[in-house]
Amino acid sequence: MRTTLAGAPSAFEGGLLPLGSGTWAWIQPDGGWGEANAGLVVGDGASAVVDTLWDGRRCREMLAAMAAPTAGAPVRLAVNTHADGDHWWGNAELPADARIVTSAEARTAMDEEESPRGMARLRRLTGLSGRLPGRAGEMGRYVRGMLEPFDFRHVELRLPDDVFHGTATEEVGGRELLLRTLGPAHTVGDLVVHVPDAGVLFAADLLFVGVTPVMWAGPVESWIAALDAILATDADTIVPGHGPVGGPEEVRAMRDYWAWLAGAVAAQHRMGHRALEATIAILRDPDAAAYRRWLVPERTLISVTVMQRGLAGEGPLPRTTAVRAALFDQVASVRRALRDDAG
Ligand SMILES: [Zn+2]
Repeated sequence: MRTTLAGAPSAFEGGLLPLGSGTWAWIQPDGGWGEANAGLVVGDGASAVVDTLWDGRRCREMLAAMAAPTAGAPVRLAVNTHADGDHWWGNAELPADARIVTSAEARTAMDEEESPRGMARLRRLTGLSGRLPGRAGEMGRYVRGMLEPFDFRHVELRLPDDVFHGTATEEVGGRELLLRTLGPAHTVGDLVVHVPDAGVLFAADLLFVGVTPVMWAGPVESWIAALDAILATDADTIVPGHGPVGGPEEVRAMRDYWAWLAGAVAAQHRMGHRALEATIAILRDPDAAAYRRWLVPERTLISVTVMQRGLAGEGPLPRTTAVRAALFDQVASVRRALRDDAG
C-alpha cells in the first residue's frame, strides 16, 4: 500500500508489516489526523489485536489483511490503547467472542468522547462551512480534510468488556502481553502493549514518528516519564500510534521534542504570549527547523494550549465542542502562517 487514506502518494509503506516473532504492525501512511496504526500478535491457536481504527470499513480492511496470519489462530483478545475514536471505533468488526480490554481511565474517557453520530454531523457541516469565505471557511476545510476518508454514519460503538488498573498481564495462545497504563499524557488513559518474547512494544499515541504529536491531557512531565518507561522495557521494535515503525531512537527523539517544547512554552508564557502567538513564534524559531518538517506541525497549537493551561494552573482542557472548535480555528491559522512563511 503506497497511498494515504485520502489516496495521495504516501511517504512510506503501509499495510500489514511483519515485525518477526509472530507480530505485525498495521500501518496507515502518512500518520496524520485519523491515520492510526494498529498491531497483531499471533499465538498458538489464538491472536490479539491492538486497536481497531476509526471506522468499520478501515477495520474490516485490516482484519481481511490479517486473515492469513490468523488462519487457525482467531482473534480472541483486543486491546484499546486509549479513548480517541481513531483507535477503537472499529471494535464492532471484531469477532463477537473476542474480549476487549482497556485501562480504567480510557474506559471512562470513552463515555465522554464525541459520538460517531456527532462526528458524522460535523463531517457534513464542515463540508458546507468549507465553502464560506475567510476564517470560518478555512477551519471548515481543515476539519473536513481530516474527516474526509472516514464513514462515521455506520459506526456502531462496541465498548471494552474489561478494564484494568495500572498494569495487567494477558495471555493469548501461549504468549504474554504486558499492558501498562502510562498516562495521563496524550490522553488520560494511555496504555502500551509490550510483547516481551518478541522485543516489540505497541506505544500507540505516546509515540509519533515523523508526525507532530498532540497533547490533549498532559502534563508534559508525565509524557516524558512514559517515554522513559518505554525505553526501560528494552523493546527494540516500537510501533507508534501514527507514522512508520521505529525503535528506541525515535522514542528518544520524542523525549527531546517534549523537553524542547516545554522550555519554549515556558519562555513564551513568561512573555505573556497567548497560545496562537506563542505557537507561531515557537515554530518560527530556528531551533524548530527539524520539527517543522514533521507532518501537521500546526497541531503544536493544541499542546501549547494545554501546557499553558498547566502553567497558569487552569486545569485540563474542557472536552466541549465549543472549545475544540476554537482550537481548530487556531490550528488552521497556524497552518496558514506556516504556509505564508514557506511562500
Ligand atoms: Zn491517534
